[in-house]
Amino acid sequence: MVKQIGKEVKKQAVCTCNRCGHVMNAHHTVPAEDCLYVEKVWGYFSQKDGARHSWCLCEACYDELVSGFVIPVETGEVTEFV
Ligand SMILES: [Zn+2]
Repeated sequence: MVKQIGKEVKKQAVCTCNRCGHVMNAHHTVPAEDCLYVEKVWGYFSQKDGARHSWCLCEACYDELVSGFVIPVETGEVTEFV
């Protein structure tokens, strides 16, 4: 997660779920839980032209969100992480 402090931008290793407030666990500065991080800059043909939105969901909130999708999430498997 990125936090703007004055002109300085600090990256945080731990993020907080925007939906339930769950703080992701971390060992020192290394995240011990994965999360969904979304960043969107809205374009000209939206009502939010130029606005940047970002948010984070924990895995449980992600599962709940996608369970309501009319079209299921496309899935695949990654065997190597870079
Ligand atoms: Zn959550």
